[in-house]
Amino acid sequence: MSATARLWLLATASVLSACGRPPDRRPWLADAYSPSASAALTLPEIPTPQIEQRDGKNRIAFLGPNGRTYGIRWESVSESVGVPNGGALRRGAQLPKTGPGYRHVGKNPWGTDEAVTFLQLAAYVVHDMYPDTVPVVIGDVSRDEGGHLRPHKSHQSGRDADVGLFANNNKPLRGFVNLSPSELDVEKTWVYIETLLRTGQVLYIFLDRRLQPALYRHARDQGWSEASLDRVFQYPGGREKTIVRHVAGHADHLHVRFTCPADDPECGD
Ligand SMILES: [Zn+2]
Repeated sequence: MSATARLWLLATASVLSACGRPPDRRPWLADAYSPSASAALTLPEIPTPQIEQRDGKNRIAFLGPNGRTYGIRWESVSESVGVPNGGALRRGAQLPKTGPGYRHVGKNPWGTDEAVTFLQLAAYVVHDMYPDTVPVVIGDVSRDEGGHLRPHKSHQSGRDADVGLFANNNKPLRGFVNLSPSELDVEKTWVYIETLLRTGQVLYIFLDRRLQPALYRHARDQGWSEASLDRVFQYPGGREKTIVRHVAGHADHLHVRFTCPADDPECGD
């Protein structure tokens, strides 16, 4: 047997000079590898992988939607302060303009190291599973230093991000586009969501209720149990405290809220 294939991906954070801040040298480093082909899912529950700290870096490994194990390491120097609707961001990380599976639009790419890492990771996994995919559009995260960001109420503490949808037939979208359920690429959109769920680092995702049934049915067809899906989707029962939940204005993008990083003591939900 050949040695385990190991793929390294390195995207260096953009250098920022405009605000008089020193260049941001934090690398974003992901290693994706498939240690064995037998890692296919048998129990599609939501895992809660532990974040390990070693050599000043955080590490997490989890099983991807395709049965591969994905590992990622990052250095956490950012700090999310306060609550998303009234907070700030210290030493935020900048989402690079482009990366595997995504492109960022707009002028607000700042987030916690964790948010920026996991947004890229989910796009990376989609790209890994669908190498020919058009990039998903990622919009506002937070401002440098966080704080109020029009027209949002939240997006203030580096833990919120708007992520576009995937359209059927690999149709490229220039920005956020309202999609009907039949226009939505359910498979890719679910991979993006499912990857975030599998990291255990997402509090919730806003998405219009009309788009939830197709994703629910697809996930169920993939082997997710109804008990697990009851925690993820409001559909079909109309529960409120699910991870994916309806908020008006989210038929053209996902609003992702990440959990407070463990080492950010002033972060509040
Ligand atoms: Zn948003």
